[in-house]
Amino acid sequence: MFKKLFFLGEFLSLLFLVSACKKTQSTLKIMDEDFKNLISNYQSYNDDLYDLYYQEYQINHNVILSLNKVNYPTFFELTSSIKSFNFGEGYFVNKNYYLEKTYIPQDLVPVTINKINRKNETMLINKNVLKMATKMFDDASKQGLNLVVFSAYRSFTKQKALYNNAKDPSFVAPAGYSEHQTGDALDIATLDTGLTSYFMETKEYLFLKQHAHEYGFIERYQSDKEALTHYPAEGWHYRYVGQEIATTIYQNHLSLEEYIYMYVELK
Ligand SMILES: [Zn+2]
Repeated sequence: MFKKLFFLGEFLSLLFLVSACKKTQSTLKIMDEDFKNLISNYQSYNDDLYDLYYQEYQINHNVILSLNKVNYPTFFELTSSIKSFNFGEGYFVNKNYYLEKTYIPQDLVPVTINKINRKNETMLINKNVLKMATKMFDDASKQGLNLVVFSAYRSFTKQKALYNNAKDPSFVAPAGYSEHQTGDALDIATLDTGLTSYFMETKEYLFLKQHAHEYGFIERYQSDKEALTHYPAEGWHYRYVGQEIATTIYQNHLSLEEYIYMYVELK
C-alpha cells in the first residue's frame, strides 16, 4: 500500500512538472515576441545578436542591461578613451569616458557656500548644483555640522596643470578625465580633516553618506566599488545627478557606472 501511494505521488508530481514545463514554454513564447518588439526599438539593437540579448534578459529581466551587457561587455574594464555622453543629468566621466578640451559648462556661478579660500581663485560650480548644495549645507549646519567645499569646477587647463604637478599622478585624473570639469562635482570635507581618509570618520561624512541623495548628490567613489570605478575611496567627492537618480543609486547601493549600465542605453 505504501509503495503504491509512493508511485501515485511520483506520478502526480511528474504530471505537475510536465504541465509546469508546458506553461513555462508558452509563457516564454509570448515573452519572446514581446521582448523582440520592445528591444528592437532601441538604437543600439543589433538583430544578429538577438539570441544573446534574450539570454541575458532571462537572467536580469532588464532590457537596457541586456543590450549593454552584450554590446559593451568590457564597460567596467579600463579600456580605451571614449567621448563622454550625457546620461540625462549631466556628462558621464570616468577613466574611460572623457570630456573634450573645449567643454565648458554653461551655468557656472561663483560658489557662495562655506569654502576654503585660495589666492587668485574664484571657485565656480553649476548654478543648480549650488542651489542644492546650499540646501544641504544649511541642513547640515542646523545639526551643528560644518561642511566646507575644497574644490568645485576645474577647467581642462587647470586639471592638466594639476596632473603635471602632482607628486603621485596616479591619484589625479588626467585632463578631460576629471568629473570636476563637468561643473557637477564638489569636494566636501571638514577644515580639520581636509581631503584625507580621516574625513570618513567624521559626523559630517556620516551626514553626507545618509542624506546627500536627498539633495541629488552621490558619493562617487565608494570604498567597495573600487574595482568598478578604478578610484580608491574618496569620501569627499560628491557628484550631482539629481534627486531621482541619486536616490536609485543610494537605495540600491550602486556606483554611477552600475547605474549607467543598468538604466542608460550605451551607444
Ligand atoms: Zn574631487
